[in-house]
Amino acid sequence: MIATRNVQSFIGGKFRDSRAEKTDPIPNPATGEIIASLPHSPREEINEAVAAAKQAFPVWSETPVPERAQVMFRFKALFDQHIDELSEIVTRENGKTLDESRGEVKRAIEVIDFACGAPTLMMGQNLDQIARGIDEELTRFPVGVVAGITPFNFPNMVPMWMIPVAIVTGNTFVLKPSQLTPLSAMRIAELLEEAGLPPGVFNVVHGANDAVNQLLTHPDVAGISFVGSATVAAYIYATAAANGKRVQALGGAKNHILVMDDADLELSAPHVISSAFGNAGQRCLAGSVAVGVGKIGDALVRELANDAAKLTVGPGTDPKTTLGPVIRGERKKKLIEYIDGAQSEGAQLVSDGRQVDQTDGFFLGPTIFDRVTPNMKIWKEELFGPVLAVMRASDIDEALKLLNASTYGNMASIFTSSGKNAREFKRRAQAGMLGVNIGVAAPMAFFPFTGWKNSFFGDLHATGQDSIRFYTRHKVVTTRWL
Ligand code: NAD
Repeated sequence: MIATRNVQSFIGGKFRDSRAEKTDPIPNPATGEIIASLPHSPREEINEAVAAAKQAFPVWSETPVPERAQVMFRFKALFDQHIDELSEIVTRENGKTLDESRGEVKRAIEVIDFACGAPTLMMGQNLDQIARGIDEELTRFPVGVVAGITPFNFPNMVPMWMIPVAIVTGNTFVLKPSQLTPLSAMRIAELLEEAGLPPGVFNVVHGANDAVNQLLTHPDVAGISFVGSATVAAYIYATAAANGKRVQALGGAKNHILVMDDADLELSAPHVISSAFGNAGQRCLAGSVAVGVGKIGDALVRELANDAAKLTVGPGTDPKTTLGPVIRGERKKKLIEYIDGAQSEGAQLVSDGRQVDQTDGFFLGPTIFDRVTPNMKIWKEELFGPVLAVMRASDIDEALKLLNASTYGNMASIFTSSGKNAREFKRRAQAGMLGVNIGVAAPMAFFPFTGWKNSFFGDLHATGQDSIRFYTRHKVVTTRWL
């Protein structure tokens, strides 16, 4: 039994015990053991965090861009130095395997790398002589206090999609991490402080809906970066916009992977499996629907079932584990309801993950359904767990029709050896992130994370040049010297 620790807030450069009246226990999903206690920050603490960020803004936004970038260089060095420890925190609070956690932290480091380029990335534009004796220039300025609201599934990487870019461009930041996984955020705060970030530039508060609503309507918050499920993302987008804030709200997903009958099945199936079951299916880029196109259907299902049977369910700290737990017992229960429901709707259960050897923790084995059809709940809704739906299509037109009928549009992939099929897919698939023979088509930090439809609400996406634009506003100056 390890000591339960009270999660602190980080406000104005100080780690503080919260005055919260309401707290939640935080279990380790692999054991069920309580590892921390989460405070629901009361209103006055959230106001203090926003006030600290507001107070820090004038000096931080005037700090030369290369100096702000130097903080990022130091922060990056610290992240590199602490990669094992940061990964262990992710595994402890989220459950994913240590390998998966390392992958997540490496992806977070890519965003810091990107942010280190701020002096180049923030450059404006100018045109000499737009009229006789007149010049014009565009300059970028930070927007002010930005609030970040993040989900449980990437407790390190998703906050880091926001923090480095927002602060290096001169904004100050208040993070409200997922109430299910608050520990990584606190380690990020410690490392930012160690990197020399001035007090108040970065702050952390905790809680759920009330905390979010307060940030969404706070008059001193200028921008909202959100990542979470689609219904909440739509609400965040509408509420933040109605309160005069710029907003980017990344939502949920139902990612289709087309497996053409010209694909090399043996080489392709492991990618489908790792896309569906990596991070226990709790990934916004998880391939949760595999579409067998042409004559490949039966062989695909056989191959997927064989590969799924090779997965080892267990705690993320065990190097043999390839499928960790889901985040909470309630989520496991909900997933089992979906599995029961799919059976009664007529889908064919090929691999059943409901019975697992693990006695503690929130484990579910790999589950595969064949003959899923568009009227079934497991096709329409995001399950967010280790459940893969297999569908059949006679040709690429039918497969694309199916994919494009989804209300989500985060990612889609095709496995094929045909350039023609790949080209058709790239041009016609209605999703923002596409993979050709790639199971998880996650863009690197210098590209934007471009969900479509209910997977994204807003105009400027996270990371890449979009993020520089999201966290800055333009001035265009027209000059004539008389
Ligand atoms: P969630 O929507 O339940 O929670 C996300 C955040 O919103 C949390 O901080 C939570 O406190 C807050 N929140 C939840 N309900 C709220 C409400 N009614 N009002 C105000 N705030 C609320 O999401 P989750 O379960 O933590 O994360 C999983 C979801 O996130 C999945 O749908 C997944 O696809 C999505 N996700 C999307 C991306 C992406 O890039 N599009 C990336 C990661 C996760």
